Order: sequence, then C-alpha cells, then structure tokens
Amino acid sequence: MMDRRRFLAGLAAAGAGTLAGCSFNPLNWGNAKVVVIGGGYGGATAAKYLKLLDPSLDVTLVDKRNSHLSCPGSNEVLAGWRELESLHRDFRRLRKAYDIRVIQAEVEAIDGVKRRVRLNTKDKLEYDRLVISPGIDFRWKAIDGYGRAASLKAPHAWIAGEQTKLLHKQLKAMDDGGVVLITAPANPYRCPPGPYERASLIAAYLKRYKPRSKVIILDAKTQFSKQKLFLKGWQELYPGMVEWVSSEKEGQIDHVDVIRKIVQTEFNEHRANVLNIIPPQRAASIASKAGLTDASGWCPVDPANFASTRVPHIHVIGDACIATPMPKSAFAANSQAKVCARAIVEDLQERDPGPPSLVNHCYSFLAPDYAISISGIYELGRKGHELMATATGETPLDADRRQEARFARDWQTNIRADTFE
Ligand SMILES: Cc1cc2nc3c(=O)[nH]c(=O)nc-3n(C[C@H](O)[C@H](O)[C@H](O)COP(=O)(O)OP(=O)(O)OC[C@H]3O[C@@H](n4cnc5c(N)ncnc54)[C@H](O)[C@@H]3O)c2cc1C
Repeated sequence: MMDRRRFLAGLAAAGAGTLAGCSFNPLNWGNAKVVVIGGGYGGATAAKYLKLLDPSLDVTLVDKRNSHLSCPGSNEVLAGWRELESLHRDFRRLRKAYDIRVIQAEVEAIDGVKRRVRLNTKDKLEYDRLVISPGIDFRWKAIDGYGRAASLKAPHAWIAGEQTKLLHKQLKAMDDGGVVLITAPANPYRCPPGPYERASLIAAYLKRYKPRSKVIILDAKTQFSKQKLFLKGWQELYPGMVEWVSSEKEGQIDHVDVIRKIVQTEFNEHRANVLNIIPPQRAASIASKAGLTDASGWCPVDPANFASTRVPHIHVIGDACIATPMPKSAFAANSQAKVCARAIVEDLQERDPGPPSLVNHCYSFLAPDYAISISGIYELGRKGHELMATATGETPLDADRRQEARFARDWQTNIRADTFE
C-alpha cells in the first residue's frame, strides 16, 4: 500500500495554497484526478483498469500519438508476414466504453510539487495521482559511431514505426548471399528475447527468398533468454544460417561505421550487408526530466504499488520502471498496470490493496508454425522492498511448437483487446 504517512507529508509539503487551487478533496476520493502518461501496454491498461475499478475517478490518458503502434508483432513485419499498419491501436474504445479523457499531446514537464503536467500545447493538467508508462529511449552515446543520425542508415527498429519499415526495406534490397548483422545489448533492455526472435524471423524470410544469406547476432551478453530453445530451433529450422556470437568471444563493440556497414569489436571487424544495431536503453526522457530515474537511467519504484521512490504521488510502470526480475515486456507492463491501478484505487479509499500479484508470459516466434515461451510469477520478497520470482519456466524442449504458435497468436489478440478495448 502507498505509505499514507508519506502521502500526507506530501500534502503538507505541497502547501495549503496549492491545495486550494486544485479540485483534490481528501474527504471525497471519488473526485480524484488521475493522469496517465503513455498510451502503450502499460498506460492504456492502467487507464482502463482505473475506470473499471472505480468509475467515479476522473482519468485522463495522454499520448503524443493518436494511436499506439505495437512492438509485439513488429518482428513479423520484417519477415513479411504482416503489414506494420495492422499493429496500430487507437484510443477510441477507451474513450467511449470507459469514459476516459484522451489527449493527444507530448508531456514536456512534470511538476511533482504542484502535481501538474505541462503539455506541448502549453495546456496544464493537474493530478492527484500520476501514472507514467512512457517506454524507452536510447543511450545514443553508448556505442561509438551510433547516434540518432546513424540509425537512419542502420536502423534499430526497437520502437516500431518508420525504423521497422526501413529495416524491412533493406532486407528486401539485400542480395542473396548477404550477411544481416544484429547487435544485441546488455541487460536490462526492452524485450529480452526480442533480438533472437528477430534473428529467427529474418532467417525465415531469408530461407525463403535469399537462402545463401546469413544472420549473425553479436551479443553484449554471455547468455540470453530462452537460449536452449532458440538454439535448438535454429538448428532444426535454419541449420548454418543463424550464428550467435557471445561477448566472451568478441568482447565489447568498439565502433560502428554505418556507411561502410562495419562493426568493430575488441578482437575483430565484422562486415554486414544489412546492419541492425539495437542500442543500450534507458527510461523515456520524460522520466529523467521529471527526476524519476536513478543513475541506471531507469525509475526505482516500490514494487507493492509501483509508486516512485523519488517523487510522491507518481507511479511508474512498464519498461521505464525497475521491476527486476520481471522482464521489460508488454505482458509485464499490462500486469504491473493492473497492480498499480488497484493500489491507487484502494489507497484513495484508505484501504490496503494487499500484496501484488504479478505475472509474465513471453512468446517468441521462430517460424509461422513454431513458437517458444517462458513464464514467471513474481511476489514481494520478505522485506517487501523487492520482487522475487517464485516460479519461472520455459516450455520443454520437446513441446508442441505448432500449438505454441497458435497460443502466441491468440496471446497477441488477447493482450491488445485487454489493453485497448
Ligand atoms: C521487436 C519487439 C518485439 C516485442 N515483442 C514482445 C512480445 O512478443 N511480448 C511482450 O510481452 N513484449 C514484447 N515487446 C516489448 C514491449 O513492446 C514493451 O515491453 C512494451 O511496449 C512496454 O510497454 P510501455 O507501456 O512501457 O511502453 P510503450 O508500449 O512503448 O508505450 C509508451 C507510450 O508512451 C508514449 N510517450 C512516451 N513519452 C511520452 C511523452 N513525453 N508524452 C506523451 N506520450 C509519451 C509513446 O508514444 C508510447 O505510446 C517487444 C518489443 C520489441 C522491440
């Protein structure tokens, strides 16, 4: 539960003048204003479940775009299985069915003392509670030679959109016999199995259209999510076509030359025909601007309710928050959003929300009828300050992959419905 003493102390610190100027009334929690920043898997779910749990809340959802473009499914665009446009979800249903006010604007600043956010339209929104789920930004200076401008030549495609289209276009233009080089970052980053699913789906495309080509993954890690399942799948589906290179073998990336398409590591130089650099990441910039991040670049939170440990009355969910050992996934963001919504509603009514119940289940496609998955259940540790995985597991090596692929497709449909409809 959000610490009520801390909350009241925050009220006192905010001062009577500020209180007089806003509609917040501690005796009437039903009028509480909750602003949610980010209409992705975390934010849209939080807005919806806040209203489901307490329809009297005044909930406003702010996103800089008029629809959300899903990253889950975007690797399939690279394989040519689906159009990028099929991954858009707008906010009409949230507005109509749940009476959520939706504003398309970029949040430029958050004033944690006055409890106010400023939009790029110059409008200001006051809040009693703020939920932010703004996703990620990149650490552009982390790899020598790879910045925002370089990403227009060697796309990261790690936020779905134009970058996804560019990478797909480059794959289509590549000659048979070419090398697609993917660099995978060190943990933590958005979607731990994502680079390996991407390698698989690019291999699926190459096997069909350019069978003499190769995919190489230069990894900043020595092991990766669902490793055994991926390695087995590559052997079965794409023998000799996908090569994973551990950081133990190559060391760190020293430099990237996106014009000559060369990646220089501590020990070697790698030439590519298509270069996909997935850079190290951090919480989206609005989080650091608001003072919500720590030295790691991510936002520390109380895992019981996802309240920021840095700024009172603000909750951070999704990729931007530190919820280790939960991965940064859409499934996790959706699960955290529900825990956070419940904690806010219960706390506003001065009730204890009880311990959180958090889950994650991540599917990865290796081919249209071949998928693998990993799941985890997370609870508060004994001290109550950190999460621990109480159960985790991958599907067995000999599981029915065709059935998993069906489950993976159904999951995509269900999570989009649960989040946006
Ligand atoms: C290739 C790929 C494949 C993936 N596949 C899977 C998968 O199969 N399963 C899975 O569970 N996860 C998957 N993920 C991970 C998943 O996409 C993320 O974990 C998830 O999107 C995180 O949700 P979020 O709410 O934190 O951020 P997002 O979903 O990115 O939402 C953030 C939103 O905030 C908005 N925003 C940001 N800043 C501002 C601002 N200042 N003002 C207003 N709006 C703002 C953005 O426009 C965006 O709509 C994948 C990721 C990638 C890259």
